[in-house]
Amino acid sequence: MSGIVYLVGAGPGDPGLMTRRSLDLIATADAILYDRLIPPGALDGARPDAELRYVGKEPGAAALSQEETNALLVELGRAGKRVVRLKGGDPFVFGRGGEEAEALAAAGVPFEVVPGVTAGVAAPAYAGIPVTHRDAASAVAFITGHEDPEKPDSALDWDALARFPGTLVFYMGIKRLPLIAERLTAAGRDPAEAVAVVERGTHPGQRTVVDTLGGIAARVGAEEIRAPAITLVGAVAELRETIAWLERRPLHGEVVAVTRARAQASGLAERLRELGAEVVETPAIRIEPRPVEGEVRDAIDRVGEYALVCFTSPNGVRLFFDALVGGAAGAPGGGAPGGPSPPGARDARALAAATVAAIGPGTAAALLDHGLRADVVPERFVAEALVEALAGVELEGRRVLVARAAEARSVLPDSLRERGAQIDDVAFYDTVAEPLTDAQRAALERATYVTFTSSSTVRFLLESGVRPPAGARIVSIGPVTSATAEEHGLAVDVEAERHDIDGLVDALVADAAARRVPA
Ligand code: SAH
Repeated sequence: MSGIVYLVGAGPGDPGLMTRRSLDLIATADAILYDRLIPPGALDGARPDAELRYVGKEPGAAALSQEETNALLVELGRAGKRVVRLKGGDPFVFGRGGEEAEALAAAGVPFEVVPGVTAGVAAPAYAGIPVTHRDAASAVAFITGHEDPEKPDSALDWDALARFPGTLVFYMGIKRLPLIAERLTAAGRDPAEAVAVVERGTHPGQRTVVDTLGGIAARVGAEEIRAPAITLVGAVAELRETIAWLERRPLHGEVVAVTRARAQASGLAERLRELGAEVVETPAIRIEPRPVEGEVRDAIDRVGEYALVCFTSPNGVRLFFDALVGGAAGAPGGGAPGGPSPPGARDARALAAATVAAIGPGTAAALLDHGLRADVVPERFVAEALVEALAGVELEGRRVLVARAAEARSVLPDSLRERGAQIDDVAFYDTVAEPLTDAQRAALERATYVTFTSSSTVRFLLESGVRPPAGARIVSIGPVTSATAEEHGLAVDVEAERHDIDGLVDALVADAAARRVPA
């Protein structure tokens, strides 16, 4: 079988700017050869058995020469591999993709080119600068600011660049910026023309400085701007004043730590990122489902006898249904969706006669995913409120299932028992500590906000010896979580009024707005 090499652009750094095609190819590649400037997490979707190889050029230490990279691509292609050559930005814009394609063509190895979002367009766009504009620039030039030192200085035609009727975009030029500015002005470009330099464009922590062609070198030196950076010369840079958008997002500049279990973190993390925050995932806990035996087995077997079923978390809902549709003891678990059900398997209809209660909207939404609308959802999302909301439900002598985590508070089962119900208080999962990696600890140190969505996140994080950094604002989802924090000597700065994820995000945004110094 003949192999194939894909020359793939990974975009400028924001993982959201990777193309669908690039992600599909990464997911199916036998081998991936990648550079330094690819987005964080770009390789997360690679096959576990894929060969991942760094071939980039660290400043100073070359991992592989260009010739060696070309030869390796040819060799892997000839060996019948499906190869992804992954590069920052676009592979054919200062990416040496052209040379690699030539080598593959010469060797007769099939290849395809997958364009990417190039930094010269994306970094200005994130800075609020359009590279062309009807009134300000009808052309744009992409220029290397890092000329081969072997070449004579005349390799770039400075006179032509000075006369160029449009925007000049320099890649790789940050070290040589003083020289570039000087050459352009010496050749007649207006020293009063606007220049923008965008450092780490589209990454969290992107920085932009705008000055004049005459003043930019000193400015960039003073602000200690470093590579990777794009330098843009042109009147369009002035538009940033009006259309900068990145910095105006409510959580721009904030680093928010999410301590909830990795499996639950993505919804919260996404909301925070959409609001402009840099999110660091520092999961303190992990959800471990209990095997379907013992009390879990009994609860599932007698599910039709319950007059009331209470769910106290989305996890409880998910694992209850996993156990319910998984079938009777000893039956092959699950069964293919749509296929014949394993013996004893049941579905939502098993709860047809029961009153179904959810502690809050997240739990109610999880129920709805399984086709069940909760009969009872309290206005405040704590156990006490659920007890109140159930006041009208006749419980004397009735069987009740409380589906919960192992170390949940006993308020709910105790109160229902007092009302004469026969309670099956069943743990469907355990919450266990998830030790932080060194990288996660380091990331936590940079946090400006640390969020806690349950008592267990507080307890497991602090009891593992990790403390949020002194300057960080502590955000709690509600009074129970706050009390646990205070017990552990952690002062809560922000407590959500609505005790769910939306409420927590709202409270965090309001706090950030109140603390923001007006510009
Ligand atoms: N093929 C890439 C460019 C590779 S050359 C592309 O199409 O974007 C490397 C140069 O690209 C860097 O020196 C810098 O000038 C620019 N660059 C890459 N990523 C960048 C980023 N996130 N922000 C600003 N400049 C970036």
